[in-house]
Amino acid sequence: MESQGHDALACSEVFELLSDYLDGSLAPEDCERVRRHIHDCAPCVEFLESLRQSVSLCREYGSIERPAPLSPDVRERLMELYRRATHQE
Ligand SMILES: [Zn+2]
Repeated sequence: MESQGHDALACSEVFELLSDYLDGSLAPEDCERVRRHIHDCAPCVEFLESLRQSVSLCREYGSIERPAPLSPDVRERLMELYRRATHQE
């Protein structure tokens, strides 16, 4: 039985990183940890799948283009969706 160890993120930690994640300004190593969490977490998958339609997640290697920052309105709405998806109040 393997524990996730300190490298694994909780949904709440992903949530905290989302701001940078959505801006594409998250550090590559943190971005990778978010991606790894998402890989195993259905609520986060659903949430971030919906985001993919409007934003680029993380900086793609080899890409020099930065995604446009989300407007506060959009971000607030996404955060609300995220809280609901992860059953956090
Ligand atoms: Zn999650």
